[in-house]
Amino acid sequence: EQEVSEYRKSLAIRVSGFDVPRPVKTFEDCGFAPELMRAIAKQGYEKPTTIQCQALPIVLSGRDVIGIAKTGSGKTASFVLPMIVHIMDQPELQKEEGPIGVICAPTRELAHQIFLEAKKFAKAYGIRASAVYGGMSKLDQFKELKAGCEIVVATPGRLIDMLKMKALTMTRATHLVLDEADRMFDLGFEPQIRSIVGQIRPDRQTLLFSATMPRKVEKLAREVLSDPIRVTVGEVGT
Ligand code: ADP
Ligand code: MG
Repeated sequence: EQEVSEYRKSLAIRVSGFDVPRPVKTFEDCGFAPELMRAIAKQGYEKPTTIQCQALPIVLSGRDVIGIAKTGSGKTASFVLPMIVHIMDQPELQKEEGPIGVICAPTRELAHQIFLEAKKFAKAYGIRASAVYGGMSKLDQFKELKAGCEIVVATPGRLIDMLKMKALTMTRATHLVLDEADRMFDLGFEPQIRSIVGQIRPDRQTLLFSATMPRKVEKLAREVLSDPIRVTVGEVGT
């Protein structure tokens, strides 16, 4: 335990919450299947970034996470890789409809970037990812969602539109990510986020990532996450 805390200190990782899994040093330590290890290698990812070292084992353990780390630190893979594992762990993929993993991001550019990253890893397993954001035809998106997917990456407003149009149902959704939560709040998406969260079963796993933790985001985190572990990397303002 002393050694673990020294290791965290050396990486400038701070954690709070009970029973925090120890950080990994390599992707092998995460126990990923060979297909996923190959997809990771194909991306040129040799070892986990700092946030990934601590966030990956926590997310893989099923716990809720608040992850705070600056832009460019590799937060996306720290939720996308466990999401793929979670989807592959589902017993009967085809029985129900609708996404298993739901990722909300503030802008279409960010949603698109996450979508591309998710696709790289999803491909190895034939997992389908859909992107849902403004600027694309609603009808095309409706059709794509109707065809089915396991992962949806969305901006909150457009996801609400699609839910209203019954393009998808959240009955199968068990893994929710709120990425760049502070920016979603800045853009006024709090009501949409609350509505989306309210449509996903309460026994879901919820992950919230943010570069900063303003009061309002802290309050949402307290309300929608269960016994979260907080992981902070580096210096972060509020
Ligand atoms: P953040 O969401 O924290 O801003 P991203 O997830 O967008 O960061 O990652 C930033 C960049 O780092 C991306 O280009 C991504 O492909 C790359 N990256 C992520 N994880 C690793 C890794 N383990 N090794 C090398 N590069 C990585
Ligand atoms: Mg990001």
